[in-house]
Amino acid sequence: MKPGGLVSYAIHLKCRDCERTYPLEPLAACEECWAPLEVVYDYGKLWADLRREDLASRPPTMWRYRELLPLARDPYVGHQTGFTPLVAAPRLGAALGVRELYLKNDSVNHPTLSFKDRVVAVALSKAHEFGFDTVGCSSTGNLANAVAAQAAAGGFKAFIFVPAELEPEKIIATQVYGATLVRVQGNYDQVNRLCSEVAQKHSWGIVNVNLRSYYSEGSKTVGYEIAEQLGWRLPQNIVVPMAGGALITKVHKAFEELKKLAWVEPVTTRFFGAQATGCSPITSAAKRGTSEIDPQKPHTIAKSLAIGNPADGIYAVKTILGSGGAGEDVSDDEIVEGIRLLGETEGIFTETAGGVTVAVARKLIRQGRLNPQESIVLAITGNGLKTIGALQGRIAESALIRPKLEDFEEQFLNAAAIV
Ligand SMILES: *Cc1c(COP(=O)(O)O)cnc(C)c1O
Ligand SMILES: [Zn+2]
Repeated sequence: MKPGGLVSYAIHLKCRDCERTYPLEPLAACEECWAPLEVVYDYGKLWADLRREDLASRPPTMWRYRELLPLARDPYVGHQTGFTPLVAAPRLGAALGVRELYLKNDSVNHPTLSFKDRVVAVALSKAHEFGFDTVGCSSTGNLANAVAAQAAAGGFKAFIFVPAELEPEKIIATQVYGATLVRVQGNYDQVNRLCSEVAQKHSWGIVNVNLRSYYSEGSKTVGYEIAEQLGWRLPQNIVVPMAGGALITKVHKAFEELKKLAWVEPVTTRFFGAQATGCSPITSAAKRGTSEIDPQKPHTIAKSLAIGNPADGIYAVKTILGSGGAGEDVSDDEIVEGIRLLGETEGIFTETAGGVTVAVARKLIRQGRLNPQESIVLAITGNGLKTIGALQGRIAESALIRPKLEDFEEQFLNAAAIV
């Protein structure tokens, strides 16, 4: 990477609805119609300048795809983020009856163990380019952790707005980085509205408000990595958990870009969106076959996905239905089953969002809507140690013994004791 060199092929922002274009500035939404703004690249120039072979010698981080990200300078934070393992999952595959199953394991993403580190690496690098010294976000948990950590590493001041009833693990894993945590009485949608007002009043870089169009581009790297790790091949199916709905639309954008650059065969990947039944505005719309979202009041243990009025919900439904996929949701009990099934078969401990993904995949396969004869990727987006509380009281307490061989054998090897 040339130090300070121009590394981006981004040319402007474009409204997703009315297509009006804007310069590459910190803008929250289209001034005409309030739809989200999308970064547009010069794909012709990219195609002419860059071969996928050029990437082979680059370090294994998300920045190996830097030309497809909207930075004008070298990344400022998150240098080690991304290129998480794509894990072949034969034991989970056997349990689900799937022949070719993979897990994209962002539960070990650097530095805060969720896919949100990718989006924050782009957003705060962009905040630095724009000259902001203060950053912030509204968050359902993982974004709070990622912004707080990377703000500390980048020397930014940070204000993090969260719903008051967030998991204690995620609250402590925000404050430890020295960020100012603002706990708000209300759900995520109310927190987010407050954050938009803050962004209008103060000249700060708010990751999911005026930096949103850059931030969400970071999610594309999940898609590039899956393709490269499959040997420059697209999977036939992918199951993605949804909160605001950005990740699923951006993985789709990534696959479309790779086809445009002719780096992969033009396979049509079916996109399956996963939510908790207790907060399922996107999957409900997908089931009705419409992109019109009915906002909901969240009530689920999958707090990282608990956005009742998703900003990219419409586009997520369009991605799902347009690809021939489907949306499905699962109960809190099924989420816990999904977490345990993944742990017991593959030795990977995911948070509630990952439980949603595994349980939705199982449900779709049982319903005959996800074809187990085809290749399937599950997006495991966060780490189980962050939502320990979701399992408390749901896993049986093991026997306590005296430090004596007879106690051990009686309690643990006696056939009657093993149930
Ligand atoms: C935020 C989040 C998601 C969903 O991301 P969106 O882009 O908002 O749909 C999925 N999994 C985890 C663990 C998250 O934190
Ligand atoms: Zn517009």
